[in-house]
Amino acid sequence: MTEYEAVIGLEIHTHLKTKSKMFCACSTEFGRPPNSNICPVCTGQPGALPVLNKEAVNLAIRCGLALNCTINKKSVFARKNYFYPDLPKGYQISQFDLPVASRGFVDIAPADGAEKRIGITRAHLEEDAGKLVHQGAEGIEGATSSYVDLNRSSVPLLEIVSEPDLRSAAEAKAYLEKIKSILQYAGISDANMEEGKLRCDANVSIRPAGAAEFGVKTEIKNMNSFRAVERAIKIEIERQKQALAAGRQIIQETRSYDEAAGQTVSMRSKEESHDYRYFPEPDLLPLLISEDWLKQAQKELPELAEQRIKRYQEEYGISAYDARVLTLDKATADFFDTAARLYAGDKKNIVNWLTTDVLGYLKNEDLELSQTKLRPANLVEMLGLIDNKTISGKIAKELIGQMLKTGESAKKLVEQSGLRQITDEAELQKIIQEILNANPRQLEQYRAGKTALKGYFVGETMKRTKGRASPPAVNQILDKLLSG
Ligand SMILES: [Zn+2]
Repeated sequence: MTEYEAVIGLEIHTHLKTKSKMFCACSTEFGRPPNSNICPVCTGQPGALPVLNKEAVNLAIRCGLALNCTINKKSVFARKNYFYPDLPKGYQISQFDLPVASRGFVDIAPADGAEKRIGITRAHLEEDAGKLVHQGAEGIEGATSSYVDLNRSSVPLLEIVSEPDLRSAAEAKAYLEKIKSILQYAGISDANMEEGKLRCDANVSIRPAGAAEFGVKTEIKNMNSFRAVERAIKIEIERQKQALAAGRQIIQETRSYDEAAGQTVSMRSKEESHDYRYFPEPDLLPLLISEDWLKQAQKELPELAEQRIKRYQEEYGISAYDARVLTLDKATADFFDTAARLYAGDKKNIVNWLTTDVLGYLKNEDLELSQTKLRPANLVEMLGLIDNKTISGKIAKELIGQMLKTGESAKKLVEQSGLRQITDEAELQKIIQEILNANPRQLEQYRAGKTALKGYFVGETMKRTKGRASPPAVNQILDKLLSG
């Protein structure tokens, strides 16, 4: 039986975070009424001329730098010709043989193996197409009618093409997550897959393990989440293995992932680049990037996740593991940075609450931190209440859930619910004395040497005070009363 290995490369399309479109002044805002962000340029009216968006180029350079690419001093826009109802010009302005960035790499740490370097072939600028809205059925086949929304037409995109260096679905997922993290940290894109701001196609082939030549590849489309990417690639690898085992050939084609059916389905035979009849865009000059521009972009490159992981360890003495957990999501890392600035105590207290209670809550509710009402100042206020012994850690665990849901301040919640910790010695002594009086048998056993019963009295005190008694104070008073 032949052992096979998978060879995978990803093409990632990401929306660039610009206010206006690639070649006109129309807004890129998501979720506006259909065809409200359009003009003669992005709807392809005859005679309308494109003007390049400088900020899109800025972000492309920044992305190239973050991906360790060479930024090409001269790159050229090209027309990629094809017909589809969402493409009014009949061609897409893209880059072909001279992209803005080439030959980079990122390091990934996949769940199923060791750290690994993945090559980046190129990153190039292009414009997005419009969107079709079908009535009566989901796809264009079977629809009773289809509408065209050109709000997305000509929104700036960057396509990032990896080398075929990925060897498993888990590696592909780790790579995609790494790219998403870089895009978010560097302020290049929101990289939100659900809003279509990050899209990914996968080229998948298999070959006998150790072989030098590549097998025939298929291109998988229609993967709309990180989980879908991992599942679709796994399914496609399995399909190819079974086909070869049954003596069938793999056909070079484009296949669509059907999430509900859990399979990939043939869409069309794969087009070659010559099918698009690329030629240089005659309406745009070559894109020239000066040394000064490049230096400026280098200076403006924000702190990436890896640099933050290092800083958290060095500045705050946080473990490498915790630093990695904090930086998985940029919003969580930003939250931590703000809280750390506001909080005078040990920053590890913030880490503990964020990585256990808060992230636990998010996982249970399937939410992101930014979707909750918790703000850094509220968390810091709660930590202050623990530090000055107004509330116990146990009470705080109850508060944090309410704070995440309502955004209410910890102080206010404590006042409203009477959760203030009992630290008053006279009050505690009275309660504990009552408990001892009510349990004469246990008290006698304790004094006869069964000292483990102290835990029983602590428990009774906590029960009576609904967890509000300060544990150190209870211990101290118990020791005094039990020995007396
Ligand atoms: Zn426009």
